[in-house]
Amino acid sequence: MYRSHTCGALRMQDVNQQVTLAGWVQTIRKFGAITFIDLRDRYGITQLLLGEELNSQLTDQPLGREYVLQATGKVTERSNKNSQIDTGDIEVAVTSFTILNKSAVPPFTIQDDTDGGDDIRMKYRFLDLRRNAVKKNLELRYAVNRSARNYLHQQGFMDIETPFLIKSTPEGARDFVVPSRMNAGQFYALPQSPQTFKQLLMVSGYDRYYQIVKCFRDEDLRADRQPEFTQIDCEMAFVEQEDILQMFEQLIKQIFKDVKQIDYSDLVERISWEEAMWTYGNDKPDIRFNMKLANYKFPLHTFPEKKETLSNSLLSSGATGFAVFDQAETIIGFAAAGCSEYTRKQIDELTEWVKRPQIGMQGMVYIKCNLDGTFKSSVDKFFGEESLQKIAAATGAQPGDLVLVLAGKEEKTRKAASELRLEMGKRLGLRKENEFKLLWVLDFPLFEYAEEENRWVARHHPFTAPKPDHIAVMIDNDPEIKDAAKYLEHPYAGIKANAYDMVLNGNEIGGGSIRIFQRPLQEKMFAALGMTEAEALHKFGFLLGAFEYGAPPHGGIAFGFDRLCSILGGSESIRDFIAFPKNNSGRDVMLDAPGTIDQHQLDELHIQLNKE
Ligand code: ASP
Repeated sequence: MYRSHTCGALRMQDVNQQVTLAGWVQTIRKFGAITFIDLRDRYGITQLLLGEELNSQLTDQPLGREYVLQATGKVTERSNKNSQIDTGDIEVAVTSFTILNKSAVPPFTIQDDTDGGDDIRMKYRFLDLRRNAVKKNLELRYAVNRSARNYLHQQGFMDIETPFLIKSTPEGARDFVVPSRMNAGQFYALPQSPQTFKQLLMVSGYDRYYQIVKCFRDEDLRADRQPEFTQIDCEMAFVEQEDILQMFEQLIKQIFKDVKQIDYSDLVERISWEEAMWTYGNDKPDIRFNMKLANYKFPLHTFPEKKETLSNSLLSSGATGFAVFDQAETIIGFAAAGCSEYTRKQIDELTEWVKRPQIGMQGMVYIKCNLDGTFKSSVDKFFGEESLQKIAAATGAQPGDLVLVLAGKEEKTRKAASELRLEMGKRLGLRKENEFKLLWVLDFPLFEYAEEENRWVARHHPFTAPKPDHIAVMIDNDPEIKDAAKYLEHPYAGIKANAYDMVLNGNEIGGGSIRIFQRPLQEKMFAALGMTEAEALHKFGFLLGAFEYGAPPHGGIAFGFDRLCSILGGSESIRDFIAFPKNNSGRDVMLDAPGTIDQHQLDELHIQLNKE
């Protein structure tokens, strides 16, 4: 036996026991004739005491950091206890030790606040993984995994593996492809998700399926994405949207409970996509704080259900005398609570913030709602006290608040207002790391307009069903967009999907839909997306064929497992929760992959590389 105990196991009740430990040398401290060694493994750190007799052995065989050491000795009570660690009351008085393996000097210190930068830690990820901080993340990941599996198993879901070498699946990204040696000139695609397989499993009668599964998407890796990532992928048959919502909010609540010991007893709020866009400026609002947007002016058709409810006719009329407002397509504001005393400097700094290229606004209007009931604004020249009061009132501002108003092109202004809201939420400490707020976003549009191609694309994916009431609109109308400028007036623009996203603290953690399960509607969908009949058959003949053989009504959802872990772990980066992640250019710097392959491999694959 290499060890009788782990380095995290021994306590006061073990005093006088003879033990053998094995682990890595964290630190070595010499005090005259005695030496203290902190020995570390996955479970903790135990202090070893090497007396005079062993010191000569240490001179012959010097130890270094990260050496692999086996030590035998007696557990003794420490005179100088360390309450910071679980084993801090004891130490092991070593009687013999063996160096099981040496270690080169590690390129960075293996401790929580390491001196290693990102690149070097990724290159030596196997050492980085020894650090407590990283280990905790992987432990959390495993806890989420276990919790999800337990819950789904209890609910009768079956884990069924689906293949990785497949034909393209349309989740809207580029495929990774794998050349086939046995089929010259042909390629597999790696799945962007198991979407079509899980639907086929429903046709096969496995009415509750799940898989914790790798998905592959060849996207530009902006903003914390990984080319391969993990989903908790689920599908159910004989369900309506409501069944799915209940089943899976319970899953997330169970994960909260198991992993964070949080009893999430609140009702999970629900909001329509249109309402979310209107009140928060985006479709994954952070509802840990309020700060709802006031929409003063909006182009007519953008949010059809909302166009009558502009917050302030004063601005929407378009003749205020203030050119910035009069010429703007959209004007949006909100109140930052308790910020009326912002200094000139703070306001200038915020104005610079909205002018950054990522946000792209020309400027920002503010109205200070003073505690004495007066108003002070950057547009005093154009608006009297009464008008300022009205503009502020639309945001729900109270005395002491600061109203921030942005104006400009519709989409840009909405995005900017949404970002500014989040930024103010952050600055005001309203986005608390330990507060978790779930939200369902419902009723997404089924289609999105692709300007470059002047056609419809599926907002979720082509298997998503329209709301039952909207099926006829889809069947009865020609998808062709005759006048690009008026695409929002096309009947398809108003079709809503039976699709839902689960949002946690401003992050989309999952999304899914009720599926089309009848061949004619699926064919109509493919046609709406601009596919010819032949293309649809070539790409999805297998699914259309399956729908001929008794496909049940079905629907599902997939959760972004890495993201869920990172949020629960209080981190912005999913990489911290992946054992061997890739960097922002999609490289594994430890393996140095991707890399070139030998000529004979290329030949076997019938591939000739372009000379450039
Ligand atoms: N396959 C979808 C996705 O990856 C999820 C789903 O519709 O179940 O987004």
